[in-house]
Amino acid sequence: MSQTATFKCPSCGGYLEFDPEGQRFLCPYCSASFNEDEISQQSEAKEAEAEPVVEDSATEHLRTYHCKMCGAEIVTDDTTAAARCYYCHNPVVMTDRLTDEFKPDGVIPFQLDRKAAEEKFNAYVKSKKFIDRSFFTPQQMEDFSGVYYPYWLADVEGEATFSGQGTRVSVATTPKQTVTTTRYFAVQREGKLSFRNMVRKALSKADGKLSDGIHPYDMEAVKPFAMGYLSGFLAEKRDVEAEGVQGGILEETQGYAQSLMSQKGEFNSLSGQTDYQVTNTKMKYLMLPAWVLTYKGGEKGEPYYYMMNGQTGAVCGKLPLKKSKLLLCSLLVGAAVFAALCLGGAFVW
Ligand SMILES: [Zn+2]
Ligand SMILES: [Zn+2]
Repeated sequence: MSQTATFKCPSCGGYLEFDPEGQRFLCPYCSASFNEDEISQQSEAKEAEAEPVVEDSATEHLRTYHCKMCGAEIVTDDTTAAARCYYCHNPVVMTDRLTDEFKPDGVIPFQLDRKAAEEKFNAYVKSKKFIDRSFFTPQQMEDFSGVYYPYWLADVEGEATFSGQGTRVSVATTPKQTVTTTRYFAVQREGKLSFRNMVRKALSKADGKLSDGIHPYDMEAVKPFAMGYLSGFLAEKRDVEAEGVQGGILEETQGYAQSLMSQKGEFNSLSGQTDYQVTNTKMKYLMLPAWVLTYKGGEKGEPYYYMMNGQTGAVCGKLPLKKSKLLLCSLLVGAAVFAALCLGGAFVW
């Protein structure tokens, strides 16, 4: 049984979409807008109605939903949590993918709407040299989607001790002699360490390089999750569990603990042993917003992908370089180097 939710406009019955600019829910039919509180009741009712996913072995990676506006079938893969009906463009939230253990703890709602994201992207392209700007015309654009991606956020508490030996060296010089004094210290340190907001992606198919490149997000802006924020956007459900990322996170904190505890400080040298124990780990499941842009390929036809942080506007992606401009520049640089060499030569001679 697959379930969907559409957030209905209380005034006209049309569908509502989350509007990043006003941070409100907008009805594109009658232009009415509503705040989070007005929609939260709908959101809670839909969560309560939703039943957990029953995996259907015949269609392991596909699932069929029915659009509540037009009745059409929507086929999604097994990580889609929000989409749009292909026929009537009604935004659809797959409620059964967002309940029970799959209910996110928090969400950062989109701050940049499509128009703002487009402007930011154009400004980014303009700021770069050697780019073939004709590549970024609207005709070349294949896809431009707002997607909520699943992430794990960890807070780790730990205790560490360090014991070792430090040295302090002082040198005194008189007209007759130089005296070097080395003093040895037994060093004992202990402390509580806490690491906040360590982020890991929770979707195995997400492009690591691209999605890592748009961090950080301002985690102060995380809000309690409500399904309504997903309306009008795409969303992915996690396929990586907390256990899958915890080991790496703890290892990372181990490294930080080691370097924090063994800092030389006032000593000239310090050697010793750090002992680190994790005392508490808190994992949160979050949905973070990103704009994903796809442009039609260059000479070889390979597509170019870009990701933009839906909160801060940070962009990541490979840019198509204009060969003629690069060539001209390297020729100029070459000429300059040649001139400099000649000049150097002239001085030597
Ligand atoms: Zn309406
Ligand atoms: Zn539809």
